[in-house]
Amino acid sequence: MNTTEAQPPRSGHALGLICILIGALLAVAVGAIWGQTMWLAAGGPERAVEELEKTARQKERFAEDAQRAGNRKEADRLRAQVPLIEKEIERNEALRREAARRPLGFARGAFELIRFCGDVFLRMLLMIVVPLVLTSMVCGITSLGDMGRMGKVGLWTLAYYLITGAVAVVLGIAMVEIIRPGAGLDDTFAYVSEELLNRRETSVVGTILEVVVGRPDDPAGGLIPKNIVAAAGESNIMATILFSLLFGGALAASGAKGKPAVDFFQAANEAIMKVVRLILFFAPAGIFGLIVTRIVVVGGARGVLDEAHLLGWLVLTVALGLFIHTIVLCLLLWIFGRRNPWRYFAAMARALLTALSTSSSSATLPMTIECAEEAGVSQRSAGFVLPLGATINMDGTALYEAVAAIFIAQAAGVPLGPAALVVIFLTATVAAIGAPGIPEAGLVTLLIVLTAVGLPTAGIGTILAIDWFLDRQRTAVNVFGDAVGAAVIDRWLKK
Ligand code: ASP
Repeated sequence: MNTTEAQPPRSGHALGLICILIGALLAVAVGAIWGQTMWLAAGGPERAVEELEKTARQKERFAEDAQRAGNRKEADRLRAQVPLIEKEIERNEALRREAARRPLGFARGAFELIRFCGDVFLRMLLMIVVPLVLTSMVCGITSLGDMGRMGKVGLWTLAYYLITGAVAVVLGIAMVEIIRPGAGLDDTFAYVSEELLNRRETSVVGTILEVVVGRPDDPAGGLIPKNIVAAAGESNIMATILFSLLFGGALAASGAKGKPAVDFFQAANEAIMKVVRLILFFAPAGIFGLIVTRIVVVGGARGVLDEAHLLGWLVLTVALGLFIHTIVLCLLLWIFGRRNPWRYFAAMARALLTALSTSSSSATLPMTIECAEEAGVSQRSAGFVLPLGATINMDGTALYEAVAAIFIAQAAGVPLGPAALVVIFLTATVAAIGAPGIPEAGLVTLLIVLTAVGLPTAGIGTILAIDWFLDRQRTAVNVFGDAVGAAVIDRWLKK
């Protein structure tokens, strides 16, 4: 097969990747060895007690609701969980007393410093993402030439996104039906955040409309905000993309008159990519900081293991599904993009590690564009396909939405017939498109799926504890899906 090979990584890039890998591995080691001490030093037991107290109160409330609805069995089940939660509160109180006795000043200082590194990296990425989306999309669109061609590329891109998203959902449904991770699950420590509780009455249509116009209390607005400058100021990537599409299209249609503006955007895009390359230097320390912080927040290695143990089958189902989908993406890349999947995967490694540490496709976008261009994807394809993909192409999220919804049904003992599975297939595909590329966004749009099939939205509480972990994995697959899309569309454009 005549393949378009990724350019061999230049020695500087290989070195960059090695540094990032060392940063990530070091983070896991530091988190495992020192995580619990830092968790104690950073007030972990206090936060755990607060959370557990809220959980116990919520159980009492849910039990009363169940009693009122005439479901005594459920009310008794929920009440029986309260003493177990109280026991856990006592354990954490003891840890709090122990922490007060130990000299933990150094660990606290070290944790603050490590968190600072992660924070700075994330801020740098977010700082650059809005201008990058604007310039790269305008450049990508204007270099496509006429409107007819632009429309065709747009349609191909959307078709690619829809098909791969649908494949991911089918895979998710198959995996969760085969493994059945939700059967016999213990939901004693499940807690539904107030935000989700307040939103759980939203209808499917209501949620979709919300994606378009935004929530009334959200200054960022939705896909179509009242004020694009305010929306961009709030890092509303979806609105920035839509505006860039319209603006770029209009510039392309303006012919010679639009040329000075096109030149300006090309120069600005060049400069912004230089800033991205500068930010890349900070990636090893940033990724180290983000990973250690997350491990510490969940309670060190012990906290991670406890959560993984409780929801191990769910983690396994999602991980296996995502792995198989990655293989599917590699096949697509090989067949339609005519590229060596292994090389392309290696070329995208820095972006994938950034996705794993930030849990955000949007924050990873600068890296994704940089890596894809380095791998030989043309600027016009990368500039057009990748920003669009970062918000609407979410294969990992689509797979996860299906797995999570069926998992919640299994845990609640609700049987799902073929009709319900079709509804899950359709809504999970839409929910993934609607989810913005930010951490744990998939959890909110999961409400669309649950409401559509009439599943208990409070079931989200069961997966809330582990979502931070699954979010990283699905974000990495989202980013890889975008990158494969860019390579496939690029080849099609070149043809
Ligand atoms: N965090 C994911 C992303 O940015 C979205 C999700 O929550 O599934 O791609």
